[in-house]
Amino acid sequence: MKINLISDTVTKPTPEMLEFMMNAEVGDDVFKHDPTVNHLEEKVSKLFGKEAALFFPSGTMANQTAIKIHTQPSEQLICDKWAHVYNFEGGGASFNSGVSCALIDGNRGMFTANQVREKINDPNNYHLAKTSLVTIENTTNKGGGACWDINELKRIKSVCQEHSLAFHLDGARLFNALVAKGETPEQYGELFDTISVCMSKGLGAPIGSLLIGSKEHIAKALRLRKLFGGAMRQVGYLAAAITYALDNHVDRLAEDHKRAKALGEALENSFLIKKVEQIETNIVIFYVADGVDENEFVNKLAEKDILLISMGEGKLRMVTHLNFTDVMLDKTVQEIGELRL
Ligand SMILES: *Cc1c(COP(=O)(O)O)cnc(C)c1O
Repeated sequence: MKINLISDTVTKPTPEMLEFMMNAEVGDDVFKHDPTVNHLEEKVSKLFGKEAALFFPSGTMANQTAIKIHTQPSEQLICDKWAHVYNFEGGGASFNSGVSCALIDGNRGMFTANQVREKINDPNNYHLAKTSLVTIENTTNKGGGACWDINELKRIKSVCQEHSLAFHLDGARLFNALVAKGETPEQYGELFDTISVCMSKGLGAPIGSLLIGSKEHIAKALRLRKLFGGAMRQVGYLAAAITYALDNHVDRLAEDHKRAKALGEALENSFLIKKVEQIETNIVIFYVADGVDENEFVNKLAEKDILLISMGEGKLRMVTHLNFTDVMLDKTVQEIGELRL
């Protein structure tokens, strides 16, 4: 039994999802003739109470498209110092959009409206880059699956409106936040100009993200997706997987969160572990005790067929997901308890 806790992207389609995919009606999506993609885009835009949505092959491309929509070269976006758009998209903000990032020193990937206000450049000072976009992440990836307080997001939205800034949500794991906090997609649709969501993470589809926004923004996104090389043909097979995931895999995210908490307890009980970060969703971040070699910890568990990753500086990560069952949880808890280096 291989137990893979490296990421929630390691899931494989369930037999039911595969069957649903195989039965999809498809067409050429570059001509907008794929009925399954069209259905999905309409379903997702309605879900968020927005006008339109567009299928993307990756979350990175959806985020990069959003940044390009909201900025002009030389301008600046504001994000957390741990933001995916800044750290893990290959420097794309500067390459694709020619923008710089003003980084906020946030708490677990989150920040306050006041911290945003402090980062906005004076638009009358032509020495400074023009601030044009604020982007946030929910849940935060590097922040350990933390969920924002929606009231803080409302305050940030007001700051954006005051200063005519666009507001983008990198919602790669937004559904985890919605399930954890009992919130709805519409609440987020109201707050943001554009939202990206990943379907290949906790929701268990093999590929795909969507960008959601106004008709005008999504018309621009369609052109940019072509420019970035992301216009595809009979993509309905993939869209079907996402439709299936939305209908069947959202509520069950609560199980991933419960199992993540159980992993956290097991880690807290181990003398090899110094600290476990607060667990709100499906990401468990923890630190090995002083004198414990993190690579040895990872390797010893790998010998027991349990995989996790090291994030450097003594920080380790486990992520629960669709293919991580209770039987696997029991085995992992047992192995953590018995682990000796
Ligand atoms: C995974 C992820 C993305 C998108 O990543 P892709 O691998 O390109 O789909 C974007 N933002 C966050 C926070 C993520 O975790």
